[in-house]
Amino acid sequence: MIRRGVDLSHMPDDCVFCSIVAGEIPARTVHETDEVLAFLDANPLAPGHTLVIPKVHVRHVGEIDDDLTSELFAAVAELTPRIRDVVNADAANVGINDGRAAGQEVPHVHVHVIPRFEGDDGSPIHAVAGERPELTDDELDAIAADITG
Ligand code: AMP
Ligand code: ZN
Repeated sequence: MIRRGVDLSHMPDDCVFCSIVAGEIPARTVHETDEVLAFLDANPLAPGHTLVIPKVHVRHVGEIDDDLTSELFAAVAELTPRIRDVVNADAANVGINDGRAAGQEVPHVHVHVIPRFEGDDGSPIHAVAGERPELTDDELDAIAADITG
């Protein structure tokens, strides 16, 4: 199947977001390009909670090529202030659960845009991890060096 130029023939049968891209199940689409789709989360954490996805099935952020990464983030950057305006939000959290241990339930990359309101009793991104590790300067230096490569 081809939708707006994207070959969907390799999509997995059991991915709910691929099914949305293929038009097999409904979604409240708010933005679409050849490569990217955005739709309202079906179980929103706040009014306007939106998911922005690449149309191709990619499980992890590190598997997205540079052009698609640019398109995806361009859509996030365009939509976030628009969503905030529409629902009169004061702020937004923008984030990805990348992998099951991080809370990813749908194995197809999706960027959450979650409008936030003063006094909404929510938490910042800092609250997503468990207990803070106690790392020495040497350990931090070593991690930084390893990531730098
Ligand atoms: P995550 O835990 O990051 O994988 O988040 C998956 C998100 O997808 C959840 O917020 C769900 O509410 C949302 N979701 C699951 N199925 C659908 C669907 N058919 N349409 C819209 N959102 C969905
Ligand atoms: Zn998929």
